[in-house]
Amino acid sequence: MRKNINNLREESLNYHSQFPSGKIQISPTKKYSSQKDLSLAYSPGVAEPCKEIARSSIEVYKYTSKGNLVAVITNGSAVLGLGDIGALASKPVMEGKALLFKIFSGIDVFDIEIDESDPDKFIETVKAIAPTFGGINLEDIKAPEAFEIERRLKKELNIPVMHDDQHGTAIISGAALLNAINYVGKEIHKIKMVINGAGAAAISCARIYKQLGVKSENILMFDSKGLLHISRKDLNKEKREFSVNTYPIQKLEQAIYNTDVFIGLSIGGILTPKMLKNMAKDPIVFAMANPDPEIDYNLAIKVRPDVIMATGRSDYPNQVNNVLGFPYIFRGALDVHANEINNEMKLAAVHAIASLAKEPVPEQVNIVYNKKNISFGKEYIIPKPFDNRLITRVAPAVAKAAMDSGVAKNPILNWKNYQEKLLD
Ligand code: NAP
Ligand code: MG
Repeated sequence: MRKNINNLREESLNYHSQFPSGKIQISPTKKYSSQKDLSLAYSPGVAEPCKEIARSSIEVYKYTSKGNLVAVITNGSAVLGLGDIGALASKPVMEGKALLFKIFSGIDVFDIEIDESDPDKFIETVKAIAPTFGGINLEDIKAPEAFEIERRLKKELNIPVMHDDQHGTAIISGAALLNAINYVGKEIHKIKMVINGAGAAAISCARIYKQLGVKSENILMFDSKGLLHISRKDLNKEKREFSVNTYPIQKLEQAIYNTDVFIGLSIGGILTPKMLKNMAKDPIVFAMANPDPEIDYNLAIKVRPDVIMATGRSDYPNQVNNVLGFPYIFRGALDVHANEINNEMKLAAVHAIASLAKEPVPEQVNIVYNKKNISFGKEYIIPKPFDNRLITRVAPAVAKAAMDSGVAKNPILNWKNYQEKLLD
């Protein structure tokens, strides 16, 4: 184990430090070989598009890269499982996100690491640089500040803003939840759910699960101090939204009894085999704490062979991986010049991802994952990241939802052309 960790460390440091250092670079998209080209690219010719944009701001999408450019912005306050390591040290993660955006949906990213922990100042900084971008992906910002930062930026900017740690996880696990419930033949409005964790990811997941049909009276949510109960005085606004008034106040091991779904967005190892044994028939366990899930995958399936299990890890089936969502959600939102990423668009992404998992899997996906006959079932309730159908399913679904909900400034008129363009 120790050897593996050392190997990974060495490989990663080599990977990142190979020339040129880091993972992304900028490359020109227009001719630049002659003096004439340069006089168009820069002064004096460049003044013409400037004047057009000054006259009519919408022209910026025609003459600049804004429409395909997303800012991945952080203050480094909740980076992976590393915690508050600060803006500078978070840069490899943000460059990594830039790489994922580019390879999966062709979106260019500037990674922006802002050395600012005060939410008001952070918001002002993001607002001041927003004209550069077609969209803003907030990343790895700690709760509860992240809620307020996203809420205000959404309200005060007219480009899509999404905090991916909240909504990405909610969307992908929401798709997995729909499919898991469908697979075991239960009904979403009847299922009983325990959510362990009440941070950025858990709150956003709970909100989307409710929109998908889970009844709020069937959700019990826990933080590090116990059940979110109305008698508690230490709950922030978001936690109060999920506080219950049941008596007696249950502990996790009591709440888990006969429950259908356990959602873990907390810390590793907290779900014991005994608790899992006490869950209802065909339990659904999404143990998403990283790097160690709330219960180990192999232990869970040994204790409950009927469990449907998902984790945040790539070495087990059903990885709840945000990369199934954010590249395509932003793709769809950018392509229609959406003012925002609203609930309708997020739900469209959930349904598009969920339904893709039920379709036959192309041979190429089997090959990439070195598997035979991947098909819908307990070990495949969500698509795999290297499934190139994702872009043509999720992006159009999001774009259409933006149009239907009235936030698209540039509606798509020819869907066949759009689909073809996505595959370019
Ligand atoms: P966060 O905002 O820091 O929230 C963590 C939450 O866990 C807090 O509400 C905390 O309680 C709670 N917690 C800690 N110890 C607990 C315990 N013993 N019992 C119950 N609750 C406990 O972090 P986050 O961004 O939501 O992420 C949470 C976890 O999910 C992390 O491990 C993260 O890596 C993982 N995650 C996975 C995915 C994925 O798989 N795709 C996506 C997002 C997040 P307090 O509020 O009392 O501090
Ligand atoms: Mg993140």
